[in-house]
Amino acid sequence: MSDAQPEGQPAGQANCVFCRIAAGEIPSAQVYADSEVIAIRDVNPQAPIHVLVLPRRHVAGVAELGAGDLGAENTALLGRIVAVANRVARDDGIAEGGYRLVINQGHDGGQTVGHLHLHVLGGRPMTWPPG
Ligand code: 5GP
Ligand code: ZN
Repeated sequence: MSDAQPEGQPAGQANCVFCRIAAGEIPSAQVYADSEVIAIRDVNPQAPIHVLVLPRRHVAGVAELGAGDLGAENTALLGRIVAVANRVARDDGIAEGGYRLVINQGHDGGQTVGHLHLHVLGGRPMTWPPG
């Protein structure tokens, strides 16, 4: 298993902060929701607009997608997440100026929450390299 839960925390949905947010057990500033995907404002924003788009179902990280199955269900999920990110960018007024979409994968990728999420960052010019 390649579950990306932080060390010392059991893998699985019960202890997953984003599963709990998706279930409404932990409050969040939600900006979009449908049957598969939600978007919430990051609790520690790194830009004037910083939204996280995540699937309701527990997926440990982007590396899970295609790990065993390159089929339509997995690829469609990521497509939906990107489409929601683009909608959030439009709704938050950063679509024209531009924005950055980021997925951190695993320890070296800087992933701290082991539930797939796409960062939408905007409202200021982004720098490169990202560090
Ligand atoms: P990662 O480092 O895994 O790519 O990103 C995790 C993000 O989740 C961080 O930007 C962090 O601020 C955010 N985050 C962690 N816990 C919570 C929470 O309880 N609520 C919200 N809205 N964001 C969170
Ligand atoms: Zn989860």
